[in-house]
Amino acid sequence: MIDAERAKEWTPEKQRECRNRYRENNPDKVRESDFKYKRANREKLRLLQAEYRAANRDAIVEKRRRDYYAHPEKAAEATRKWRAKNPDKGVESVGRWQRAHREKQRVHNFICRQVRLGRIIRPVICSKCQTAGRIEGHHEDYSRPLKIVWLCQKCHSVLRRKYAALKLREEKGK
Ligand SMILES: [Zn+2]
Repeated sequence: MIDAERAKEWTPEKQRECRNRYRENNPDKVRESDFKYKRANREKLRLLQAEYRAANRDAIVEKRRRDYYAHPEKAAEATRKWRAKNPDKGVESVGRWQRAHREKQRVHNFICRQVRLGRIIRPVICSKCQTAGRIEGHHEDYSRPLKIVWLCQKCHSVLRRKYAALKLREEKGK
């Protein structure tokens, strides 16, 4: 009988309260067991995190932007720390960014000129979703500047994200 009464009192709120009290009173034990759990489930957690990021990308980007503007000095400090920890990666990524953007810039200038001269016609509807509006040229491969996919801003940003993720995976696989 006593047990049954106890069980009835053992509400989710009580459980949470008790768990929180335990966590407060045993910070070392909690840290250790969290650490063990994380180490044992690294792949699973990484996958969950990636899924969460994909599902909440807009909110995450927005939060990062808010944080950046709220504490620009903190953001700069974090970047500086990351660079100090990853000296090769920092230089490499800046170099890659510059190379990629120089080529992009050249291609964009070229296409803009061609459109202005009427040699390339910019369509008025998206080639993917058929929406009319502002249509942007997408290049899958900047070494083939005339191979343009014309997309609305929405389809373009979706494709760009997918493409960026794909590229990242390819680079990791190397
Ligand atoms: Zn579209």
